[in-house]
Amino acid sequence: MRNKNYILTPGPVPVPFEVLSKAAEPIMHHRTPQFSEIFKEVSEDLKYVFQTKNEVYIFASSGTGAMESAVVNVMQPGEKAIVVRGGKFGERWGEICQAYNINFVPIDFEWGYPVEVEQIEKALKENPDAKAVFTTLCETSTGVTYDIKSIGEFMKDKPQLLIVDAISALAVEEFYQDAWNVDIVVAGSQKGIMLPPGLAFISVSEKAWKVIENNKKTGFYFNLKAMKKNLAKATTPFTPAISLIMQLKVALNIIKNDGLENMFKRHKLMAHATREAAKALGLKLFAKKNSSNVCTSIEMPENIEAKKLTKKLRDEYGVTIAAGQGQIENKIIRIAHFGFIDKFDLIVGISAVEIGLNQLGYKVELGKGLAVAEKILFEL
Ligand SMILES: *Cc1c(COP(=O)(O)O)cnc(C)c1O
Repeated sequence: MRNKNYILTPGPVPVPFEVLSKAAEPIMHHRTPQFSEIFKEVSEDLKYVFQTKNEVYIFASSGTGAMESAVVNVMQPGEKAIVVRGGKFGERWGEICQAYNINFVPIDFEWGYPVEVEQIEKALKENPDAKAVFTTLCETSTGVTYDIKSIGEFMKDKPQLLIVDAISALAVEEFYQDAWNVDIVVAGSQKGIMLPPGLAFISVSEKAWKVIENNKKTGFYFNLKAMKKNLAKATTPFTPAISLIMQLKVALNIIKNDGLENMFKRHKLMAHATREAAKALGLKLFAKKNSSNVCTSIEMPENIEAKKLTKKLRDEYGVTIAAGQGQIENKIIRIAHFGFIDKFDLIVGISAVEIGLNQLGYKVELGKGLAVAEKILFEL
């Protein structure tokens, strides 16, 4: 018999059945009052997830499309940006800047650590001509969450815009766009929002709009001025991903019913259980500070290749967890605990890691991590 598949990766995540099945409904035309009503409703409900009064725009693209939109609409060729690079997704901000001839100053530090407010303060002092700071809420490649609240507090009265990639952490980690003074937030559908891949979201503050409206070059497909004009008429400039928008309505209802604060709490508990289980197995956590609630990054013992373990678990047992990315690709595994991953999925994931490690020659006592996780997850 084939294996049942368990996905415990930091995107895409499993999707609730009522969300999945919505995609089987007949296609509705998008230039209709029926579609506009749904579009208006999801655009409003997204504000709750972002914790903002700003409009939230929806692109048919993966999350990176919203990142590109932020760069293209805010920055003009030759202008200067500050880019926080503590992992693969921070590096991506730099890559997008490079693609558009934007002069960027990187803030580099060791992977596994968060950026410190002092580092941003120093970069802004040295580069007063910078127009924006591009950073990340959860740097998914290292499993570290940055202290955006403190960064936003520091940047509150600065002329620069604060732009945050919250693709993995929205609806997972505590985050309040307006209260934390974040100007632009980007997110994606296949992570905490529990949809299939294919939608990107971007929310833009008034301060950011002042910058964007003064810019001559603001792109074509990812053009925010065009999105704003169309959203005012409850539509999009180009064909939206109609089925995904219908699914989004169902997913947002689940999130509203659950309540953001409850979601934050649940993810925190699952992350705590995963970290303690890893420690009980004698493994080291890769995140040295601010370990995320999106995924737990765990260092592999010497002689165990991360990719060998993830391949074994996926191919032999149907359990998919992630290895690392970039410079730590083969050194860590990442177990995700967000989206529609629940407590018992996590039990499966921890059990699979115990079994796989034993089979690859790292002898751990079976059930040792599980016992710790069960106690925490179910308050035993
Ligand atoms: C997943 C992820 C992305 C990339 O999103 P895509 O949907 O693959 O384009 C960017 N940033 C972070 C922090 C992510 O977790």
